[in-house]
Amino acid sequence: MSGLYPQNDDVQRVRDASDIVRVVGEHLTLKPKGREFVGLCPFHDDKNPSMCVIPAKQIFHCFVCGSGGDVFTFVQKYHSMDFRESLEFLADRANIELTPFRGRSSSDQGEAQGVGNKEILAANDMANGFFRAILNHPEHGAAAREVIARRGISDEMVERFQIGASPDRWDGLVMIAENKDVRTEALLSAGLVKQRERGEGQYDALRNRLIFPICDQIGRVIAFGGRKINEEDEPKYLNSPETTVFKKSTTLYGINNAARAIKHERTAVVVEGYTDVIACHQAGVEHVVATLGTALTSGHATVLRRLCDTVVLLFDGDAAGIKAADRAIEVLLSETIDIKIAALAGYTEAKDPDELFKQDDGTDVFRRVIDGAVDLIKWKFDRLREELKDAGPARVTQRIQEELDRLSELGLGELEPVRRRLMIRQIAQAARVEEQVVTEAIRTGRGRRRFSPPAGEIEYKGEIDWKPDAREQLLGCLLFEPNLWNLLSSEQRELTSTVRFTSDLTRRVADALHSSAENGTGTGLHAVLAELSMLAEEDGIDTLPSNERATALYRYVAEHTEEVDDRVTRYFNECISLLVSKESRNRDRELPVDDSDENEADVLAKFLAGERKHRSQTGLGGRPRISGS
Ligand SMILES: [Zn+2]
Repeated sequence: MSGLYPQNDDVQRVRDASDIVRVVGEHLTLKPKGREFVGLCPFHDDKNPSMCVIPAKQIFHCFVCGSGGDVFTFVQKYHSMDFRESLEFLADRANIELTPFRGRSSSDQGEAQGVGNKEILAANDMANGFFRAILNHPEHGAAAREVIARRGISDEMVERFQIGASPDRWDGLVMIAENKDVRTEALLSAGLVKQRERGEGQYDALRNRLIFPICDQIGRVIAFGGRKINEEDEPKYLNSPETTVFKKSTTLYGINNAARAIKHERTAVVVEGYTDVIACHQAGVEHVVATLGTALTSGHATVLRRLCDTVVLLFDGDAAGIKAADRAIEVLLSETIDIKIAALAGYTEAKDPDELFKQDDGTDVFRRVIDGAVDLIKWKFDRLREELKDAGPARVTQRIQEELDRLSELGLGELEPVRRRLMIRQIAQAARVEEQVVTEAIRTGRGRRRFSPPAGEIEYKGEIDWKPDAREQLLGCLLFEPNLWNLLSSEQRELTSTVRFTSDLTRRVADALHSSAENGTGTGLHAVLAELSMLAEEDGIDTLPSNERATALYRYVAEHTEEVDDRVTRYFNECISLLVSKESRNRDRELPVDDSDENEADVLAKFLAGERKHRSQTGLGGRPRISGS
């Protein structure tokens, strides 16, 4: 099969150049643990590091939601890409040029009318090129360049943040799109143009503005922010509307340029506006992002906690901080991340980071401000005490009690035990009361609200209750130890033939296993994942769930045998003898093959438990019972 498709060399080359620990590590923080790495799983609401990345096998696997696979699977799942997109993404990262694509990808199918994410991203990309060209246009970009110069934004930052400009006319983008073969529907879906209310046609949504492209973590343009150029225009800032690729509640401006530094500093600084972000980066402080005109949401926190453990919310003055702090407390109580508050006021006369960095000692002052950030809870109670400094003790007690009740209503009592205990201690210190008082407030807390899951776009599709049957476990053995395939007679090989499986997911795994065995690439997990990615590449099939199934079967065997060779072999033999005896039983009764393997699964579970018990006496290995019968 593989000989027919030259681009499979590409897949192999890209796979070889994309170490899974590095790639996953660019998306989330990994910590070494023995021969593996662990991190917070981005595919479910993970509180403990449940995802492991196994460098020796180049796979990842989550124990809780069952996500797993190779480096392509990870990228596909994380960025909602199809296989081809993940291949292009990783090739790009490794500077590998791909042979021109001959297959078709899933997102090209069945979307003749509707506009898919890919087309919206392509429209944004086109618009981005247009806006950047306008900025450099001698006449149409002059006013925008003047704004940039006045704000002191360097050429390097204009480049890094891809700043552009929209022309002062109604049909700039509309006209250019016609020439570039971009459908009007795509421009409308991306929010780049609007339908005229009267008459035919569309008009540009962003006119005569300085344009700040808004990117996702890997730098794809998902929306635009436009700042007015003429003072009399309103509003000051205008953003793209929300689309299927742009959700305000999970998007952070600058994240593509800041992610690396955030991971390095283990802290993210969240400022108020585009130009603040750019000013910070220009000053060499790069772990800085901004929300898009909203308070910090749990969606933002979900994105950030994969990269760091502390978020510092930086406000220009106290007033803005006080307003945002309450929302931030909700986030603090729903996401495992520490939140601190910092305010420029008190350190400098400058009213925002942009102005601060124009001073000679700006960077030093900024560092001091961030280092002086105060834990959100402490900050909150400090403000409360300040507000009550002239009040009598009864009033103070009452207000503190009110605050404690509020924290309890926000879900303090529902935190997992360890975090709850830490928070209670922190609150008690901040409020200067006994821990007992806080615990009491939780106990009597009224009207507890349950938090809805974070507004992330990650879909959770794990099959928590899934347990492999005997036939699937046999498949798992073959994935784990490819040499076992050679020990099977052709009759025994039939035990894992595609038609024998009831689950579609496993059927596809079995199919891939048999064809990679025929190709001579073996039945190991990697060969099978490669075979599955070929299916995805050539036929545009979504093989992600099957990748996960294959990885789960592999992990099942690895865990239950603790990767001891002869235990794998004995387990493998046990699977075969169970299946063979069942088939002969069924044949004797002249009944169709009964595929309810519940009994067999129980027998295997007992077998594995026995293996564990006798581990100390082993070392007896034994040759495989299977001979070329
Ligand atoms: Zn997970």
